[in-house]
Amino acid sequence: MKIYADNAATTPVTPEILEVLIPCLTENYGNPSSIYTLGMNALRTIEKARAQCAKAIGAKTNEIYFTGSGTEADNWAVKETARRLRRTKGKTGIITTNFEHHAILHTCEALEKEGFTVKYLPVDSEGYIKADDVKNAIDDNTAIVTIMYANNEIGTILPIGEIGAVCREKGVVFHTDAVQAIGNVPIDVVKQNIDMMSVSGHKIHAPKGVGFLYSKNGLTLDRFIHGGAQERGRRAGTENTAGIAALGEAITIACEGIEERFAKITPMRDKLIKELSKIPASRLNGGAGSANKPRLPGNVNMSFIGIEGESLLLNLDIAGISASSGSACTSGSLDPSHVLLALGLPHEIAHGSLRLSINEYNTDEEIDYIVKVVPEVCAKIRAMSPLWEELTKGQSGWERFAPLLSPIA
Ligand code: PLP
Repeated sequence: MKIYADNAATTPVTPEILEVLIPCLTENYGNPSSIYTLGMNALRTIEKARAQCAKAIGAKTNEIYFTGSGTEADNWAVKETARRLRRTKGKTGIITTNFEHHAILHTCEALEKEGFTVKYLPVDSEGYIKADDVKNAIDDNTAIVTIMYANNEIGTILPIGEIGAVCREKGVVFHTDAVQAIGNVPIDVVKQNIDMMSVSGHKIHAPKGVGFLYSKNGLTLDRFIHGGAQERGRRAGTENTAGIAALGEAITIACEGIEERFAKITPMRDKLIKELSKIPASRLNGGAGSANKPRLPGNVNMSFIGIEGESLLLNLDIAGISASSGSACTSGSLDPSHVLLALGLPHEIAHGSLRLSINEYNTDEEIDYIVKVVPEVCAKIRAMSPLWEELTKGQSGWERFAPLLSPIA
């Protein structure tokens, strides 16, 4: 059995999106800046996709700027807004959280080197933050608040509407990275007081290498890439017409189907959580998915002590299951995930984490297979683990981990 359970890393391009994508490469291949028919057709394709993206999030068409990725949109929003507000208002403060994607965290670190001051608000032990925490952190020096909509590793969904209201009240620019949230939760940038928002195509069945930045009219958005006049002079470079067309179609399908997909995916997620929680000395990372602890419908993130995340992934791969430990961008590194450390977990627990991210293409049979295989693989790895032996034989050191994990036996 081959099971893809890493949809938070990326998703396959689906046949209906491919139908939109291919003709842009083979027939409608003109340069959108050319004035002849082929070029004008490509331009029309881009403008149709822009309208689709705007509609999906309640924005105006001229508030959408296509980019080469979610990462680029994050960099653009935060760097150019911070730099502009320092130039025009002398503000040098940035507020974010300590569990953002590296596209934001490393951008903030780069801005610190330029002299900006960044407050990294801590999330609580389940991966949430309150709008009041943001309110209390804002001061006269704050240029921009950037807080992710939903976390890519543990799937927690943050109170973006409340944070947006706080930022609006305080007159501070609010950016959110909605790369994981789009298509999973309804987003209305006007109602939620979102000034800027980043989206990526490849998490919602468009190809890799396309995304967009929403920037509210009235905010000055400075040029990010210098060159030609594309994207109203703000982001130079010949447009990725095919990717953009695919993104327009993908976001339309994703946002129209939110309720239906939620109803299909959530029971599979909850079964995974219920069954994998039966593994001794395990824990669910992030909230349970209740109304006050919202969680992405397809996200499961568990830790099992006495297991190395990497060996868990390799064993699952042999069994035909593609999953992740931490985020894809940090896999290959032996550092434990910064998101799990932000929850206050010790390294021993953070190291043994598994993220399964499912979607509407997964089936009940696949879920049954995963809940059969994961406990077997965990038992096999633990049988070779010195830490597990130490904890189980005489239970030495177990007291340290007991409050964070289910019983060891
Ligand atoms: N932000 C979040 C929350 C993500 O999960 C990702 C990708 O994993 C990104 C940003 C980066 O998006 P992209 O891969 O399009 O650069």
